[in-house]
Amino acid sequence: MLETIASLPVIDAHCHHLTAQLAQVSADHIARILCPGALGTPDWPSDHAREFLSFKRMIREMARYLGCDDGPDAVMAARAARVRGSDAGGSCAGGSYARGSYAAYVDGMLKAANIEALVLDLGFPGPDTYPEFEALTDIPRRLILRETWLSNTLAKEQLGFKEFLRRFDAYVENEVRVKGSAGLKSYIAATTGLGVEPASEASAETQYPEFLAGKARQTKAFNDFMFCRAADHCIDMDVPLQVHTCIFGGRNLTMEAVRPSLLQPFLQHRRGANLKLVLVHGGFPWVEEAAALAALFPDVWLDMSQWVVWNPLMAAQRLLTILTIAPANRVMYGSDGAFIPEFHWFGALTGREAVAQAMTELVRGEFLDEAQALTMARMILADNARALYRL
Ligand SMILES: [Zn+2]
Repeated sequence: MLETIASLPVIDAHCHHLTAQLAQVSADHIARILCPGALGTPDWPSDHAREFLSFKRMIREMARYLGCDDGPDAVMAARAARVRGSDAGGSCAGGSYARGSYAAYVDGMLKAANIEALVLDLGFPGPDTYPEFEALTDIPRRLILRETWLSNTLAKEQLGFKEFLRRFDAYVENEVRVKGSAGLKSYIAATTGLGVEPASEASAETQYPEFLAGKARQTKAFNDFMFCRAADHCIDMDVPLQVHTCIFGGRNLTMEAVRPSLLQPFLQHRRGANLKLVLVHGGFPWVEEAAALAALFPDVWLDMSQWVVWNPLMAAQRLLTILTIAPANRVMYGSDGAFIPEFHWFGALTGREAVAQAMTELVRGEFLDEAQALTMARMILADNARALYRL
């Protein structure tokens, strides 16, 4: 069973695109990408970032993949040579590769990870760099439009409120109905938090000038109104709404404002009734709360993204906690990979590992037989996301 799970394809149900600007990257930069607090902080102390278990394990796995000595220096030298093309191509643990180029490196790594498809949130690092990613790999993908990114982008035009709403609605409709995006995403966690309440259009309009002035952390009625508007679009177009539910995402997040249980009143309200809501990052560290919402509301999903990479040692236990509370057909693998392909690749590795360990435990405890465990592994790693995002 373990060998079969190790060979299963994954659908990465929540991740981001790469930028070609990081074709050559240092070990410290990779360590910062794996360090929750270091996002957007180039001078983050290396001795802090390099001591996370995820960095140490990723370097070891990269050494295996690249066929070089273990340790950050040897691994980064081997990576740089592969990207630069100083070798003639050949084969490694991950499969064969062409003479160097960053596209060959990226595409080879993502395909070595047996990633069937990616569900990409373009709101971070932003759609401007997406064309770079398109040139790097042809792995199938579905795009997610971040409603908070759209509001912030439209705010730069200093439109009147009614025109702002008209442009918002038109953009969303075009992205999903015409261009085929798979859903919307909200990052309201970073401003006024997940305690979304019904807000009238009049109250949103009153706060709109403050929002335009860049004070989104003070405009709860406006933010809640836009969240509900995005939810209504999702219901209307029958696509999911992803919501960031995790303490990690920048040091400005207020921990108590991102607890998944804060969404319960919204879900009880009629707007939540027919909405497919995805608790991105599974509510970490409150995975029990996220799982409880998935148990209480049949249209709530959650994913393993971020913690499966940043906290791989506990990923299997966390997944088991979720599966003791929520049904397996609402749980999806995801990496939250961004910037560099190693993040997505490493997530696929630790994700399969976590699923394999969790399934072994469920078979040992006689909750499942091996055939049922394999079916559940397939569901979590790919089938649930394939159905939800119509891949
Ligand atoms: Zn993300």
